[in-house]
Amino acid sequence: MELLLAELPETLKHYTGKPVPKWMRVMHPDAAASLVQLEKDTGGLSYTDIWRSAEVSLAARASKQGVQPPGFSGHNYGFSVDLDIDGILKAKKWTYAQLTAVMENHGWYCHRRDGQYGKSECWHFNYFGPLPERFLKAIDPKKASTWSAGVEKRIVEVYGEDFELKPTTIQYSLKQLKMYVGAVDGQMGPITTAAIKAFQRAWGLTPDGQAGPKTQRTLAFVAATKKIV
Ligand SMILES: [Zn+2]
Repeated sequence: MELLLAELPETLKHYTGKPVPKWMRVMHPDAAASLVQLEKDTGGLSYTDIWRSAEVSLAARASKQGVQPPGFSGHNYGFSVDLDIDGILKAKKWTYAQLTAVMENHGWYCHRRDGQYGKSECWHFNYFGPLPERFLKAIDPKKASTWSAGVEKRIVEVYGEDFELKPTTIQYSLKQLKMYVGAVDGQMGPITTAAIKAFQRAWGLTPDGQAGPKTQRTLAFVAATKKIV
């Protein structure tokens, strides 16, 4: 799997007042183009989180509740940003509704679909682009459990096929990660099972040695190469 990413300008402001760290400053090319326009139109916002690597997702999950595991967050694919909401509202003298309107005008939709300021994820925005309806349709604003369905739909539209790994691809990916030393022959023998278990332990999955859909998706993401355009 190849992650398609574009670099974001160095001028992006981090909530700490410093520039956004370089490792965080990449995004899916469509979303990146929109963010550059958003920065131009607003005079610049302030960000707490942009791109998240597999390692950062794993660490965030260990320290914070509700963080998606590696390979399952919009941040991993460059479709999501977390805004420094309090800082932005203060600096711009905007209401929260004004901020969400500005974001939506640029194709960015708050993860929370009930417009509540101050509650969990009110800072998280997903890029659905100029035709957001098909993503928004997957969400019931009244049911928090469906709020992630929009960005998940977007991720699966772009990368879904890459999440289904053939046995040889599983072995090859584990080999790339230096977790498998056997032959890439598609034979899921004891060496492969042990390697899958080791991978599952390292990435917070149930270590059952079976490469089910969740393990395949995590492996596809962890072993993905990045193409910066
Ligand atoms: Zn977020």
